[in-house]
Amino acid sequence: MLSIIVPAYNEQEVLDQFYARVTVVLQTAAPDYELIFVNDGSRDGTLQLLERLSESDPRVVVIDLSRNFGKEIAVSAGIDFSRGDAVIIIDADLQDPPELIPELLKQWNSGFDNVYARRISRDGESVIKKTTSYLFYRFIRRMTNIDIPADTGDFRLLSRRAVDSLKQLPERNRFMKGLYAWIGYSSVAVEYRRDPRYAGETKWNYWKLWNFALEGITSFTEVPLKVASYVGVAVAFAAFCYGVYIIINTILYGNPVAGYPSLIVTILFLGGVQLIFIGVLGEYLARAFSESKRRPLYFVNKVIRK
Ligand code: UDP
Ligand code: MG
Repeated sequence: MLSIIVPAYNEQEVLDQFYARVTVVLQTAAPDYELIFVNDGSRDGTLQLLERLSESDPRVVVIDLSRNFGKEIAVSAGIDFSRGDAVIIIDADLQDPPELIPELLKQWNSGFDNVYARRISRDGESVIKKTTSYLFYRFIRRMTNIDIPADTGDFRLLSRRAVDSLKQLPERNRFMKGLYAWIGYSSVAVEYRRDPRYAGETKWNYWKLWNFALEGITSFTEVPLKVASYVGVAVAFAAFCYGVYIIINTILYGNPVAGYPSLIVTILFLGGVQLIFIGVLGEYLARAFSESKRRPLYFVNKVIRK
């Protein structure tokens, strides 16, 4: 059996079309399936629409979360409720073409545990978004020792044992792309062209993307914490050299007591560096704090499964 997991947050404009396209593909590719929609606290008619779908189609499962928890947690909820031998995670907005599913299944049948879809083009997205995302993936690959593939999203197929491994990761700060890579197992890419959103609006803005990037970095690498020590060593060394220079200068030429500009620049520079690293510490501390509360990942309002 195959489980399809679809996180949906305010997607009433696209769900009918999504359902139509995905069922056409599945009926030929994998007739034994369950279609799990996770309603992530939508404020529009998404839930009513999903309820209607589940009435006419017993293969539709609806998991209604108690509020909006964000896509990463919605996907985790879907994974927890999935029963299939393989799980496919796909966006509701038709940016991930359901027509790629047979290809994902083919790779799974040939033995891969983690079949991820890699976008070779992203239509309908701004140059800034494409560039920042490109830079982010290059950066995080350099900083961490796990291999997070570039240009991949959540659209992928996971085998049952990969899903079971994923379920054992308890963290609340869920940078899914990192987690998929962290569990290991054999993985393979399938390439596709990413379409523009079919309808509705993206839930991302730059502030969210920035926080998402911080999430990824802090969950997978301690490098920023260590940078502080090296910057400290470099600054101390430079200060020492400058001290020696001032002593020699004073002995040879006397001390005409100037130096307000250099003093203020030094104070401000060091103050800035210190604040930056306190900020870095804060990022890690805040995450340690939220992990230590050990709150459940999500609450479910109701599950509709016929
Ligand atoms: N989504 C969600 N909860 C959220 C935000 C988004 O479940 O808080 C879902 C959304 O319904 C869609 C998928 O995650 O199915 C991707 O969202 P979106 O298209 O906004 O992101 P983008 O494709 O722009 O990265
Ligand atoms: Mg989208």
